[in-house]
Amino acid sequence: MTDPVPDPNAPITRTRLLIGGEWVDAADGKEFDVYNPSSGEVLCRVAEAGPADIDRAVRSARQALEGPWAQMSPLDRSKCLWRLGELLEQHAPEIGRVETLDQGKPYGAAVHAEVPSAANLFYYMSGWATKLEGEVIPISAGPNFHVYTRREPVGVVGCIVPWNFPLVIAAWKVAPALAAGNTVVLKPAEQTPLSALLLGELALEAGLPPGVLNVVPGFGPRAGQAITEHNDVDKVSFTGSTATGRRVIDAAKGNLKKLSLELGGKSANIIFADADIEAAIAGSAGGIFFNAGQACAAGSRLYVHEDVYDDVVAGMAAAAAAIKVGDGFDPATDMGPMVSQEHFDRVSGYLRTGLEEGGQAVTGGQRVGDRGYFIAPTVFADVRADHTIVREEIFGPVVVAMKFRDEDEVIAAANSSPYGLAGGVWTRDVSRAHRISAAFRSGTVWVNCYQVFDPAMPFGGYKESGWGREMGHEVLHDFTELKTVCVSLSN
Ligand code: NDP
Repeated sequence: MTDPVPDPNAPITRTRLLIGGEWVDAADGKEFDVYNPSSGEVLCRVAEAGPADIDRAVRSARQALEGPWAQMSPLDRSKCLWRLGELLEQHAPEIGRVETLDQGKPYGAAVHAEVPSAANLFYYMSGWATKLEGEVIPISAGPNFHVYTRREPVGVVGCIVPWNFPLVIAAWKVAPALAAGNTVVLKPAEQTPLSALLLGELALEAGLPPGVLNVVPGFGPRAGQAITEHNDVDKVSFTGSTATGRRVIDAAKGNLKKLSLELGGKSANIIFADADIEAAIAGSAGGIFFNAGQACAAGSRLYVHEDVYDDVVAGMAAAAAAIKVGDGFDPATDMGPMVSQEHFDRVSGYLRTGLEEGGQAVTGGQRVGDRGYFIAPTVFADVRADHTIVREEIFGPVVVAMKFRDEDEVIAAANSSPYGLAGGVWTRDVSRAHRISAAFRSGTVWVNCYQVFDPAMPFGGYKESGWGREMGHEVLHDFTELKTVCVSLSN
């Protein structure tokens, strides 16, 4: 069944900053243009947070942390988060509409994947609000001590999110932060601020006290930097490029705030000759072309056993060519545009470099149409390990295919990247599947599947793909401080 498509021209209601429960202009009155990447036209103007606004948001988050949020019982906190999940689902058409306008993804994906995934995060994390327990620890220093631990909120958390999954990645951070009793200053990406503002609106409706979730759109070097440098921010949870991640580390040094970093990737996806080749092709095509390749875990390096290489490359090319690229409001569209002119130029540059260095674009390799930021799904063959498009994260619908002969060779190649976010392996040999999974230097390995996410599954990177984990109960360690209490029973 196809969803009724909402009116793309209906007004956008939320364009101001949310600070302390109030919708406000930036202190200096600045605004910035937000673009529709399917047309390249300005969609609306949004208030631009600067350092003064960030400071105000941090102060209101601190007040809420020490006031109403601290006084709310874990059960009531849990109910608020569950309600927020319900409200997200109820408002899916409106949120999906702004996500398609702002990010470009197909409306069906926004409404049936992005919004429910975000809602599920709130449902899952709401359960943890009542289960953050400490332990009683027997110690050997003497019989007369009672020692226990407490899990406490870290404090005021800055959440800085990118533009590829604007609502879902916000939920990955905001839901566990709030479940653990923290308060939040959320900065969406300048390209995609709109769904985060709707999240803020629904959070108030769900009963979160003012100041618990502040939403401050703005630019990274100004608003983002102000969050990462702020001495009253206790932790930053960041998702974005490895280069910006390094800047976040530098800026956080002042008060040694805690950091979670979910950074880039160049994930290896390995197909063995004994795999179900049809399933491997379909899964691998989804693994790279999902969200127009603008996914940190995208399976962008495809290693195929030499016996099935030609068949797999032909199958990938056919799958790529069958993808309908276009405006996200067209029900026939499978894949939307690159998020911005800048990103379109970056991905186009990689396509040129790939060809100049001797790669062969079996399909794709160019833009689609002459309006908006559309790139054709592209499969490169005849590439070598030292080619730029094999080494660097492209973050677009571009896969590079390479041949291998044996397990040792392919594992060495897969692990040769400085990134270590995710990987995939396709085989019917169960022992091999486990051997390869153990050998991968990456935070997630998918076996006979790709890009499967769930709120209960931890996600994050080895090596230059980051620090810490999102989701699962693992993330709650990153959003809590552990306090040890040692009580003398002698007096
Ligand atoms: P960035 O890493 O620059 O942006 C991610 C977030 O960080 C945005 O909210 C951005 O704000 C913010 N930011 C930027 N500079 C700073 C700073 N100095 N201090 C604090 N926050 C900051 O990614 P880009 O949008 O520039 O994309 C570039 C490349 O990064 C992509 O091509 C892709 O390779 C990679 N990337 C990886 C992602 C992932 O999921 N791992 C997600 C997005 C990009 P603003 O956008 O407003 O400037």
